[in-house]
Amino acid sequence: MNIYRGRLGVLSVAALALAAVSAAQALPGVPPLSVHWEELTAPQFAVAVERAGGVAIIPMGILEKHGPHLPLGSDIMQARAVALRAAEQEYAVVFPTYYFGQIFEARHQPGTVAYSAPLIWSVLEETVAELARNGFAKIILVSGHGGNEHFVRYFCQAQLASPREYAVLLFAPEADPEDDPDVKPLLRTGLDWHAGERETSTMLAIAPGLVHLDDAGAESGADQGRLAGVPNAYTGIWWYARFPNHYAGDGGAASAELGEVLLRKRAALLAAMIRDVKRDTATLALQRAFSAAAARPVPPRP
Ligand SMILES: [Zn+2]
Repeated sequence: MNIYRGRLGVLSVAALALAAVSAAQALPGVPPLSVHWEELTAPQFAVAVERAGGVAIIPMGILEKHGPHLPLGSDIMQARAVALRAAEQEYAVVFPTYYFGQIFEARHQPGTVAYSAPLIWSVLEETVAELARNGFAKIILVSGHGGNEHFVRYFCQAQLASPREYAVLLFAPEADPEDDPDVKPLLRTGLDWHAGERETSTMLAIAPGLVHLDDAGAESGADQGRLAGVPNAYTGIWWYARFPNHYAGDGGAASAELGEVLLRKRAALLAAMIRDVKRDTATLALQRAFSAAAARPVPPRP
């Protein structure tokens, strides 16, 4: 199966449609092509795939407690805000709300939806395959949820298990926002992992009406260090041992100003990644070469 080549015939038709829509967009009052997958018509969709250079984004969130003061869907909203802002800067199509991920560690808290491991794997595997079938050969995962960190990286790694004509790339900026000269002076707290200063600030910038700042101090977001006697070990209960309130930091220190800076920085990094991914031909070429070599490994010639 060769999804990438199979779609070239569609592209020439889409190119004609693109020219028509581009001309239409020059007319006043005609809205530009939406970056929201679910807002596009089917004819617009073909144009969108072309304009996006085959790049689609899946913003990934979760339904979980965010301290006593933030909405359950905070990670979805943050991942989507970054993806949508970036796609407006560098056109890409953004997949609808996606909340399938790893969140067993919050099962003791109200409102958590913790699907099984096989299910979250299958949903993501089938989702990327469906994106590829629809013409997206380059799929960017934007995870807004810390609990997905190991899952999404393993998912990307597992793409090498079989040949495929699309690439899955995780948005994984190396820059630490705490080192950013625009961010550093605005930070007021030290420990800030979950529903703390930065996340609460980001939510203040996205949806201030959903942030209950007065409740941020109602529970402790301090590290309880209950597994301090077992250093150098990783075990699933570590998070509950340290942060049983599913709150790590102090959301009360948040500001919309910090949130806006964080959103702007992150969206700019993602827009730059979209640009790089559009230009990139190496990833898919290397995947193909690897798959061919892996199908029949031969020892190197002396
Ligand atoms: Zn979160």
